[in-house]
Amino acid sequence: MTERQPSLFGEPEGAPWEVDDRHERLVATVVFPEWEGEFDYEVPDRLRGQIESGRRIRVPLGKSNRPVVGYCVGLDVKPPPSAFRRKEVLAALDEGTLLAPAMLRLTRWLADYYVCTWGQAIESAVPAGVRLAKGTRETVLLAVRGGAMSEPGEVRLSPVQRTVLRVLCESNESMTAAQLAAAAGCSLGPIQQLRKKGLIEATTRRVLTRPAEPRVVEGQDPFTLNHEQRGALEAIVGAVHRGASTTFLMHGVTGSGKTEVYIRAIDEVLQFGRQAIVLVPEISLTPQAEHRFRSRFPRVAVLHSHMSDAERHAHWLAIARGSIQVVVGARSAVFAPLPRLGLIVIDEEHDASFKQDSTPRYHARRVALERCRLERAALVLGSATPSLESYHAAMEGRYVRMPLDHRVHRRPLPRVDIVDLRIEHDRRTPQGCISRPLYQAMSQALRADGQVILLLNRRGFSTSIQCPACGHVVKCAHCDIGLTHHRADETAVCHYCDYRILAPPRCPKCGFDGIRYRGLGTQRLEAEVRSRFRDAPCLRMDSDTMRKPGAHEKALEQFRSGDVRILLGTQMIAKGLDFPDVTLVGVINADTALHFPNFRASERTFQLVTQVAGRTGRGARAGRVLVQTYSPDHPAIVTAAQHDYVRFANLELPARARFHYPPHGEMVRVVLRGEDASITDAFARDLTGELRSRVDSETRIVGPAPTPIAKLHGRYRFHLLLIAANHEPIRAAVRDAARSVRVPDGVQWIADVDPLDML
Ligand code: ADP
Ligand code: ZN
Repeated sequence: MTERQPSLFGEPEGAPWEVDDRHERLVATVVFPEWEGEFDYEVPDRLRGQIESGRRIRVPLGKSNRPVVGYCVGLDVKPPPSAFRRKEVLAALDEGTLLAPAMLRLTRWLADYYVCTWGQAIESAVPAGVRLAKGTRETVLLAVRGGAMSEPGEVRLSPVQRTVLRVLCESNESMTAAQLAAAAGCSLGPIQQLRKKGLIEATTRRVLTRPAEPRVVEGQDPFTLNHEQRGALEAIVGAVHRGASTTFLMHGVTGSGKTEVYIRAIDEVLQFGRQAIVLVPEISLTPQAEHRFRSRFPRVAVLHSHMSDAERHAHWLAIARGSIQVVVGARSAVFAPLPRLGLIVIDEEHDASFKQDSTPRYHARRVALERCRLERAALVLGSATPSLESYHAAMEGRYVRMPLDHRVHRRPLPRVDIVDLRIEHDRRTPQGCISRPLYQAMSQALRADGQVILLLNRRGFSTSIQCPACGHVVKCAHCDIGLTHHRADETAVCHYCDYRILAPPRCPKCGFDGIRYRGLGTQRLEAEVRSRFRDAPCLRMDSDTMRKPGAHEKALEQFRSGDVRILLGTQMIAKGLDFPDVTLVGVINADTALHFPNFRASERTFQLVTQVAGRTGRGARAGRVLVQTYSPDHPAIVTAAQHDYVRFANLELPARARFHYPPHGEMVRVVLRGEDASITDAFARDLTGELRSRVDSETRIVGPAPTPIAKLHGRYRFHLLLIAANHEPIRAAVRDAARSVRVPDGVQWIADVDPLDML
């Protein structure tokens, strides 16, 4: 812990140190979200016992001694400093510590790894609802004053008063006056008298107005695990027994029964008196998924993003007290403060929603790895399409790969046929989304009472608006992005900043009145399905139709009940759905993600096609998949059609190796944005120079260059990529550069460690 007060607070202040300097002092080390570094404050005697590591405290800052809130990260006895006088802590906040020692260490690692301040890391681990004490009320709690009962002779007590004292003494927890009166069967009067006599003392504390109630759902009969599932379970249980922080990659095809293995493993962890976290992509946090865990474990907490701060606070406290066995949640649940963590499961570990897109830009998988290492817990990563990072780690022996190559009951994986749109094009109905083979397959599936899922990864009606006369493309006023036509309200919408204009009837540039709307969006697909399959009720799921809370649920319920026969939508429908009557899946255009300027474009395409294909053939009836594409020979599409992950990985990994792209190297992306293009560009070059001078020649630097979306929300954007075998020196360089560069007004920059997004 360094004593860096002078560097932040300016020159040593005023009066010399006058206290007897032979005495050592109790010193709290404090961090802030806003500033880097650790700062020492003296703990005055009146606060001794209240200040502890992980607790929020109020301290004076700067020449004006403005009170600010920071986090105590350490408590130590230190000699007084020689050159300046340490300031004193002003107050301790909250009821107690917010972070156990293991969580403090985790947040410190997080700050170092993702290049943010320790305070920022802490704030991402402790939800705002907890910090703001949401859903609590100041309450007066009563307790017997220490030693009160040992001297009863000195005060005269009525029998009722004696009863009250005895009840309060025998209670393990402090009570409100009303609770005590009820327990002792008396009015508030005797309690008041005891307080006046000083035998009962009152303290004011914040307590929850509505504590989290554990919900119990009736359990269902567990199945007998099949051979592959048993093998995976035994391996995990072995690690739990040994208390080893082993990472497992459960590579199981869609419908192979991975969730069942998670549940059995958690069961085992609980037998050991430990607890578990299950992370799922936000979109998969459905009541069905929740029910699956609740039906098997009595004390489950589910953390949703649409929870109120008060609810979140109540759950967090229940978790921290150790009264919850299993936490199910999205990304941020990786920080759930379970006191005896034994296992973290990350389902669909390849999913991009596990990466946070604001500071700190952490990936829940990377955080889980570190947390499991610190707390000697096992980590299980599950996916049918593991990220190449995880697969590569398994191939190198850092993770234990556990393949589940068969679906339960040996149900076959669906047959996948590729529809070559280049050939189908001229035969299609004008501008349609559905090719003849797909149309026939849909008719057949519906006739046989099956259900159909259609995937199109584009919202809106038409995805580009272009003038055939002058070539002008109608773009967003703030972003370098073409507008998408939404027919429901005849608007043209920017999918990045939501800028909206009325859809132009003529070219805004040359006035030509034959402006064209091209490209396929989900709205157009819906219109086509409705007109060509009049008897089959259909439902569209995308972020336009699913705005209202609960809309997602309602839609899935309509599909489950069979009222809806055709479900169409964006990648929202590709994940996790388990409907036995789906006999056909159609991918309208497999190429939407293929030509993205991102080295992971092939991987994303492979994942998307494989995942959506996995939605069919899950019941007794066989399923079928049709993939429409203009790139029928692309390896990502060919291997996905053959359900051949290993072949895909064997083709893709060497291609990445050539450029040291992850997983063969580690990457940090620096993104800059500013209102003035040339100032931002010039600073991007300066910063690149600063970084180049701080890394060795083994580090590859790509850029700076305008980002693929060169303008967003009215700001010009540039980026550069730094790639090395290990990005630790790059992170150090970024940190160092951040301290020394002068950033021009109106320009901002961030570093994204292990970036996923490249736009
Ligand atoms: P995954 O998570 O791999 O997609 P699930 O765990 O959801 O697979 O399992 C798919 C379906 O098979 C579920 O309905 C589940 O209840 C069922 N299931 C899982 N394991 C078994 C088993 N051993 N025997 C019978 N049914 C099983
Ligand atoms: Zn925009």
